[in-house]
Amino acid sequence: MTLCINPNCTKPENKQDNRFCANCGSELLLAGRYRVIKQIKSDNSGCEYEVEEISNNNIKNLQTLISNDSQEIEYFHQTAEVLKQLNHPGLPKVEIDGCFVYFPRDKTVPLHCLIMEKLDGLSLDKYLLDESLLNETYPPENHSKNKNIDENLAVNWLQQITEILQQIHNQNLLHLQIQPANILLKQNGNLALIGFGKPRINKQIPLLLLIFHPNKLIITLYRNLIFLL
Ligand SMILES: [Zn+2]
Repeated sequence: MTLCINPNCTKPENKQDNRFCANCGSELLLAGRYRVIKQIKSDNSGCEYEVEEISNNNIKNLQTLISNDSQEIEYFHQTAEVLKQLNHPGLPKVEIDGCFVYFPRDKTVPLHCLIMEKLDGLSLDKYLLDESLLNETYPPENHSKNKNIDENLAVNWLQQITEILQQIHNQNLLHLQIQPANILLKQNGNLALIGFGKPRINKQIPLLLLIFHPNKLIITLYRNLIFLL
């Protein structure tokens, strides 16, 4: 199955090999390379999808943005530029042409699209919910009934995420959604940060706070991870 990403399309499911949506006529092969195979999340400001690159069957993530807010659009494209420049195992890679604007056939809603590397792993919120994983990683005597985990592991995770955040802060990019659902535990035990491309610009943030944003984010991260301790 191939999905149509036109937000106004009432029948987005298409046959796999369709080039255009049978319902609304929109192009299904995005940027001439990707077909959308699964929707992961959706809200008023855009959707997250899994896409397949048809030339090599690689699976990637697509984040779309529906917005007329110039600041949100600018932030979205700024995120793409930063991820294009960085090459860190804890961050999704973006290819040079991984950010583009897509116009559905009706041209009513331009969609800003960001294609990112799909990082595999288990998000920390799901990790904490799965008691069997906790038992597997650390024997029951090392954590209490409320699923606390080993302090050394929590500190190790905090150090890893801080190092990843430093990478994006060096490029003047703020993530602003540091939370367990956006942190993946990869099979090699290292963490990765996801949830990019979803602008969340708090226009009420005073300039002074922005100047000191690294500390603010570290405090936010700490507050989100402290329950693990
Ligand atoms: Zn359609």
